Amino acid sequence: MLDGKTAVVTGGASGIGRAIAENYADHGATVVIGDIRRDPRQGGVSTADAINDHGGEAMHVEADVTKYDEIENLVDTAADEYGSVDVMVNNAGILQQTLLHETPVEDWEELMRINVDGVFYGTKAALNHMTEQGGGSIVNISSISGKIGRANAPAYCASKGAVTMMTRQNAIDYGPKGIRVNAVGPGGTLTAMVHEIMSEERQSYLEDATPLRRLAEPEEIADVATFLASDMASYVNGHVLIADGGFSIV
Ligand code: NAD
Repeated sequence: MLDGKTAVVTGGASGIGRAIAENYADHGATVVIGDIRRDPRQGGVSTADAINDHGGEAMHVEADVTKYDEIENLVDTAADEYGSVDVMVNNAGILQQTLLHETPVEDWEELMRINVDGVFYGTKAALNHMTEQGGGSIVNISSISGKIGRANAPAYCASKGAVTMMTRQNAIDYGPKGIRVNAVGPGGTLTAMVHEIMSEERQSYLEDATPLRRLAEPEEIADVATFLASDMASYVNGHVLIADGGFSIV
């Protein structure tokens, strides 16, 4: 589905980003992973090494999505090494769980820098190449928290609402240039983010409230990101594809 394409994935060392990078490589893409860490959060082989060991083509570039020069370097490196930037996945993100009046100002700012500015920086850097190339596909990782409310996560919900609207707005401006901009809106997905921050009580609540009665595996979210990046989604633009097992329709 992605043969011959070069894809950049932020936050690709762990979780959903890692699953996307591996899935893209399985579908024939060359993958450039940008993350503040090389190795996965829960230990093990780096994403780039795992892909290369399985016969794919991948490289890691250390990049912090809150620093535009590092993200520009990430994307430029992909173009220099492999000739184009066909797919940009803005995936890096963090979750915080506090009530708004108890949220330290610096925590709010940190989350917005990663979850919102990071998407702006990744999109801006990728568009420099995609507008020249005359095409491309941008896939943002939003969340169901960008669609419906979630208790105790004011900054996170606000940030994912912003990602959802950036996706729709960017699709309007860049569709005429052959660049599609879409997002995935995952529900609860079994990654380090969930294992470390979500209480068992919240996890069982989510499972019970989800028609499929379970959380997602990261690979199931990656399949959606592969579809959106691929030419199979050639007429899909400005769409936030919710993958939450039905949680948000109940
Ligand atoms: P994760 O914590 O497992 O992985 C996040 C990755 O992002 C890590 O490798 C981390 O090093 C990287 N990262 C963090 N800050 C960074 C920065 N400043 N620059 C570059 N990389 C950075 O989390 P995940 O669950 O895989 O989440 C990935 C995305 O999916 C996030 O945007 C998250 O909001 C979204 N999401 C997750 C869930 C879920 O339940 N896990 C649900 C909906 C949406």
